Amino acid sequence: MDTGAQDLAGLLERIAADVAPLIGSGTPAEYIPALAEVDPRHFGMAVADLDGNVHGVGDWRVPFSAQSITKVFALALALAEGGDSLWRRVGREPSGNPFNSLVQLEHENGIPRNPFINAGALVVTDRLQTLTGDASSELLEFLRAESGNPDVSFDAEVAASEHEHGDRNAALAHFMASYGNIDNPVPALLDHYFWQCSIAMSCADLARAGLFLARHGLRADGSRLLTRSEAKQVNAVMLTCGTYDAAGDFAYRVGLPGKSGVGGGIVAVVPGRCALAVWSPGLDSRGNSVAGVAALDRFTTLTGLSVF
Ligand code: GLU
Repeated sequence: MDTGAQDLAGLLERIAADVAPLIGSGTPAEYIPALAEVDPRHFGMAVADLDGNVHGVGDWRVPFSAQSITKVFALALALAEGGDSLWRRVGREPSGNPFNSLVQLEHENGIPRNPFINAGALVVTDRLQTLTGDASSELLEFLRAESGNPDVSFDAEVAASEHEHGDRNAALAHFMASYGNIDNPVPALLDHYFWQCSIAMSCADLARAGLFLARHGLRADGSRLLTRSEAKQVNAVMLTCGTYDAAGDFAYRVGLPGKSGVGGGIVAVVPGRCALAVWSPGLDSRGNSVAGVAALDRFTTLTGLSVF
């Protein structure tokens, strides 16, 4: 970025001050008990430039549950390993329904609307499992490599908590299996999906890990994960489907491809410039972090950096 390190540090401090009144508002996800216990007063934000230099503010080094943010990385790996035949099994349209909804699946023959609602993410993880034989470990290794942090790990307590309250995801997987859109045994698929969602990362880790999308597909070691056009496609799906059924409002306010998770994190990408991550556990009624969306809104407003 053109923004110097001093300027960036000052900018992040200013954003943190601007959104301070919102920190603690909203509600942490309650349907996964291990997430409901997280202190809602956390706030962190990090920006990684194309060289991997990261600046942050607040709790930017504190690991939290990445949850659905991992769906972006799983999608990228499935495309990299298996190519675009994946799109025969999952669509690319916003769902306009809650992330764990079953209703559209019956009308659309078990083909989920997009890879970022739970049904679509289950299909992506199923594909990755078929391609690699160990979807969740493959994803963890990728995230460690891209974040440069070998300590990025699964959170066994969160994975167990999701398992115990996983009836909805199990229903989605079985329903799609009945249409022939799941290849692996459902219990094994759910295991990988819950381990995937449990991965704990900080804003610093996530901003760095998201850089391959800002670098048009290039990984931290300079090798190519995605073609330029695939990176564009993943960014486009993030823009249109990445923030639950509030993607229109997120595009309006922030103007960047972004993916949120019920842990209160959001990753956003400025193609060709930088990747960002924010975290604050209080969620709005759509499941997006209240302070997190506001912070990204402030970032694009103050810098003029957006895709529009
Ligand atoms: N593990 C969560 C679930 O499948 C992820 C939800 C999310 O972050 O959107 O319910």
